[in-house]
Amino acid sequence: MSWVEAKEYFAKNDTAIIPVGSNEQHGPHNPLGTDHLIAKAIAEETAKRTGVVCLPVIPFGVSSHHKQFWGTVYVSPKTFKKYVKETCLALGYFGVRKIVVVNGHGGNLVALANLSRELRGNGMFVSVFQWWSATGKLLPELFAPEERRHASSEETSMNLSLHPHLVNMSMAIDGKLRKHALQTEGITLPLDTLDETTSGVFGKTMTASAEKGAKDFEAIVGELVNHVDLLRKTPMADLVEKPKI
Ligand SMILES: [Zn+2]
Repeated sequence: MSWVEAKEYFAKNDTAIIPVGSNEQHGPHNPLGTDHLIAKAIAEETAKRTGVVCLPVIPFGVSSHHKQFWGTVYVSPKTFKKYVKETCLALGYFGVRKIVVVNGHGGNLVALANLSRELRGNGMFVSVFQWWSATGKLLPELFAPEERRHASSEETSMNLSLHPHLVNMSMAIDGKLRKHALQTEGITLPLDTLDETTSGVFGKTMTASAEKGAKDFEAIVGELVNHVDLLRKTPMADLVEKPKI
């Protein structure tokens, strides 16, 4: 899009999509870019089907817990939150009031939830979409819980369907998790991935297939298209903070 085309778009539209992800280990068989590549693919397909503009993906996220694995590149929650928030505010200058953040990495969620709440106070409405939360509900039979974990069958299937040349299935293994001695119900520990697994895989992987990935992708995009259409039609007056009573 040139600036002339952007002017035309923003004159008529107050909605935009921003994909965000991370660059972190995803086992010996998946690319480091898994989370930002999948977020980008979902966001771009949704943009194509809705006519809402999609921004370039923000690739680095909150994933210091993977840092001992080579190639993981991360930023702090504070930096990530500020960067995404300022990106939203820059869009606000052109009249954008509604933004859908397509998040490819769970570790980003707390920062995204915080910035979206803050931006609501600035008269912007930011919703955050996480594809794996959607598929767990939309296609509960397609993957078992142990296949939905980090770098396991579901993520691998999405990679096999979207960019198979980046997956090396000859290196794929099922993950074996070590239970930390301090693990207790109700307790959150500041553990790194390496405390639990040396392969970086958290679950069952070998059942992955491009067919399952394609099924997942269709369900995800279908659900997100519904949300974007709904958001677009909702008047801003119904989305801004209510005044005090
Ligand atoms: Zn991932």
